[in-house]
Amino acid sequence: MINVAIDGPAGAGKSTIAKAAAKKLGYIYVDTGALYRTVGVYSIRTKTDYKDPEAVEKTLPHIHVDLKFIGGVQHVFLNGEDVSEEIRLPESSMAASAVSAVPAVRAFLFDLQREIAKKNNCIMDGRDIGTVVLPNADVKIFLTADPEKRAERRYKELLEKGQKVEFQDVLDDLVKRDYDDSHRAVAPLKPAEDSILVNTTTLSLEESIAAIIDTIKENL
Ligand code: C5P
Repeated sequence: MINVAIDGPAGAGKSTIAKAAAKKLGYIYVDTGALYRTVGVYSIRTKTDYKDPEAVEKTLPHIHVDLKFIGGVQHVFLNGEDVSEEIRLPESSMAASAVSAVPAVRAFLFDLQREIAKKNNCIMDGRDIGTVVLPNADVKIFLTADPEKRAERRYKELLEKGQKVEFQDVLDDLVKRDYDDSHRAVAPLKPAEDSILVNTTTLSLEESIAAIIDTIKENL
């Protein structure tokens, strides 16, 4: 199976770009952030303090997370319920970032990610795909862009979904998540040594997609 790992900070456009590239190449696109978001949503729903690692760990035996690909589109299920929309709320992002620092949560989601990669040609995106989940991926890309540019894109995306947000809040959330994701003890966000850096600050979406497809083809 061909496995492509795309890692990078929040809002770099990983999901949009990886999804489009996967479609063009005929691979499935796996968004691993959705898994952490789902664990976060369970904490929110059960009023568990997601900043308390022990409390979060105790929720894991009650959680069953599953990914299904319906018409090529990933849906994530929490105990059988499709939560693909709910995981995108801003509070779910913060909860995801908090629970993702808990080693037991990472271990809990590890096998699911590995199994999907074993069975499918895929582009998998996340924070630790090239470094931890798929260290033998055929191509590893680290996708990034300046924080302001990333916040601007995320802000537009949320407005389009009808959510009422302030640009400054989006930027602050993103900078905080970047910091937390890259400073945690377990599986911190960092480029794999053998990854190819792609910076999309000055690229349009189409140019970014083309850059990723070219990078994959050149390195397979
Ligand atoms: O990619 P997305 O923004 O949906 O990820 C949500 C959160 O999940 C991130 O802020 C990060 O803390 C965590 N995450 C992770 N490892 C991954 C994917 C996401 O720690 N492979």
